[in-house]
Amino acid sequence: MKSNSLIEIDRAHLIHPVSAYRAHERKGATVLTSGDGMYLTDSQGHRLLDAFAGLWCVNIGYGQESVVEAAAEQMRRLPYATGYFGFANEPAIRLAEKLVELSPPGLDRVYFSLGGSDAIDGAVRFIVHYWNARGLPSKKQMIALDKGYHGSSTTGAGLTGLPAFHRQFDVPLAWQHHIPAPYAYRDPQGRDGEALIAASVAELRAKVEALGVDNVAAFFAEPIQGSGGVVVPPVGWLRAMRETCTELDILFVADEVITGFGRTGPMFACEAEGVTPDLMTLAKGLTAGYAPMGAVLMTEAVYATIADGPDNHLPIGHGQTYSGHPVSAAVGLEVLRLYTEGGILANGQARSVRFGERLGELAAHPLVGDVRQRGLLAAIELVADKSTKARFDPALGLADRLTATAWSNGLIFRAFADGSIGLAPALSCSVDDMEVLLARLTRTLDAVLDQPDVRSAIVDP
Ligand code: PLP
Repeated sequence: MKSNSLIEIDRAHLIHPVSAYRAHERKGATVLTSGDGMYLTDSQGHRLLDAFAGLWCVNIGYGQESVVEAAAEQMRRLPYATGYFGFANEPAIRLAEKLVELSPPGLDRVYFSLGGSDAIDGAVRFIVHYWNARGLPSKKQMIALDKGYHGSSTTGAGLTGLPAFHRQFDVPLAWQHHIPAPYAYRDPQGRDGEALIAASVAELRAKVEALGVDNVAAFFAEPIQGSGGVVVPPVGWLRAMRETCTELDILFVADEVITGFGRTGPMFACEAEGVTPDLMTLAKGLTAGYAPMGAVLMTEAVYATIADGPDNHLPIGHGQTYSGHPVSAAVGLEVLRLYTEGGILANGQARSVRFGERLGELAAHPLVGDVRQRGLLAAIELVADKSTKARFDPALGLADRLTATAWSNGLIFRAFADGSIGLAPALSCSVDDMEVLLARLTRTLDAVLDQPDVRSAIVDP
């Protein structure tokens, strides 16, 4: 058990997101004190390479002075401005313009949220409003993917397709539905490529048909499922799902909270498939975690339907005190400048080549069943038996072992509960940083493999 006064105070008072509260109290927090470049330092002085960019958000790395300056300058000039009552502020206006310029063509309108969960929550509200305004109020059912993550708001948690977010929270709600994820490695019929795309299209059609096409409002999907274990669908999947939604007259929402801002290579994952969703949700890389902010982008058609709907002389009752916060917006503007003029997006693309090569080689490691990667977003799925794809016995506590072993090797990544490793290094990663990351990752896998009970749990090592 760790002990110092901060840890004791944390234990007594601070409720942590997505944690087993009592287990957290027993273990004690790891207090992070500073960051520079790819590295984090904790209160005990350990320096660790962060291969997960905080929570897949610090895409520009830690300690980017120009972002700090932009925030400080905005705080001095105007720390807060409401967007209510016709007021506006320059950074929010300019950031909206920039997002429209960078995002897929047709997404012309921007609503700023405080993060990803309330971007999803806002998207749900806009969609409900849209169908009511279109005079089709029966269209209220919403469909998402198993293993999808759309945050943990009252409505978003039910669109999320992960049991941990449903347990004891009485979701999904009656209007929330799920179809299987395009998860090639564990597809029950072994489908991949075109066959898997066709399967997803058929599942969506069948679900819409079962609910009644006149009742379905929208389909939500991450272009690559992050928190579900980095599930990378075959190329062409996103476009096929978009086209199916158009055909069925349901709105398509691309949740690019993780995949946005260069995480998978292009500025947005939708760009790679020439897709314009009806709505797009953003957060994380928008400010690279330097300040809280998210956004809902929508097409002119969605916006105009709401704007010109019934009772349009009355206010549309969706808002937050901090929507379009000037400090977050100033941060976002500088972060976008670093991605583009600062070359960080291109740097991430360059680094992803070596990243992909080495992860591909790790597929041969005795612990590794599957490697999934696009750009600087990846998962390594560990299995006890490569031929049957059987996972390790949960009693082995593989995720905790991975985290602890990585820590002792100076590395932070995400160890999913099923024993998969999630990787999302900053796009600002240098050539040397990438080599250090890959070396520490390999050492961690080797060290876990060397643990006698892990080795003996492997079938045909
Ligand atoms: N949507 C996706 C795809 C996410 O990955 C996340 C967070 O990880 C969210 C929504 C929720 O965002 P936030 O944690 O900022 O509320």
